[in-house]
Amino acid sequence: MPDLQAIVDEIHEKLQPRLGEGKVADYIPQLAHVDPKKFGIAIIDVDGQTYKAGDADVPFSIQSVSKVFTLTLALGKHGETTWNRVGREPSGSAFNSIVQLEHEEGKPRNPFINAGAIAVSDLVLAGHTPREAIGEIVRFVRYLADDDTIAIDPEVAKSEHATGYRNFALANFMRSFNKLTHPVEHVLGVYFHHCALAMTCTQLARSGLFLAASGRNPLTGHTVVSPQRARRINALMLTCGHYDGSGDFAYRVGLPGKSGVGGGILAVAPGKASVAVWSPGLNNHGNSLLGSLALEMLAHRTGWSVFGP
Ligand code: GLU
Repeated sequence: MPDLQAIVDEIHEKLQPRLGEGKVADYIPQLAHVDPKKFGIAIIDVDGQTYKAGDADVPFSIQSVSKVFTLTLALGKHGETTWNRVGREPSGSAFNSIVQLEHEEGKPRNPFINAGAIAVSDLVLAGHTPREAIGEIVRFVRYLADDDTIAIDPEVAKSEHATGYRNFALANFMRSFNKLTHPVEHVLGVYFHHCALAMTCTQLARSGLFLAASGRNPLTGHTVVSPQRARRINALMLTCGHYDGSGDFAYRVGLPGKSGVGGGILAVAPGKASVAVWSPGLNNHGNSLLGSLALEMLAHRTGWSVFGP
């Protein structure tokens, strides 16, 4: 195993002069006001060892990284029938694009673009009130991270709702094709709340560890999903986890990963480790600029790319 503490320290140090690069998401005040110079990285290996640097224990808005957890929950509830409602192909379009929905009769291309995650929220809602579904998601993430302090930031959830015109458009459009089974308000209530989960890099890396360890969390001993399901979620993260920047991320980093507009990225090195990075400045695909760079450096130093050393 490479000296991971030395590597995260080196990445943190090398990126110091570049902190603040990229464009912080400004569609809601809670994200616009985040210090653009924040940077954190946490790695947890499959033996349970943690390595971290920078602001690894400062909570941030995980936004779309949460879509990995809601997909896992939906698959747990609905199994393979989940794929009747959402596809498994990269979109090649922006995270909030509506165009493909028209061509594919309201069936989103994958569970990680907004439309797909809204369909997944609809699946998580089955048999629940919105409040229960949101509670189930929070409990699930706490269980994954083995940390009961993880919570939703209610101000972020409120702002997402107040400014979520595009997400309302996506949900209504899907509903017009009968592709949502619950009222749009309920589905989006679930979606906006899971996007508003606040977590640290350390908590996020812990939550994703089951994906690096064939579905079992080595810290708690809990089997979360089967090895086959972990492998498949990783495949989706690799092909669809960075919106229309997924190909570039695979080329540069070569690891399954999921980004969020809050500047977080969860990356999985199967059989090796779970990694979370956070830097609020985004590139022009809406993915963390320095976070992607940090992961590129990490993959280079460790040889962890799934495509070879
Ligand atoms: N809440 C954001 C939205 O729906 C999430 C987008 C993201 O993290 O990429 O617009």
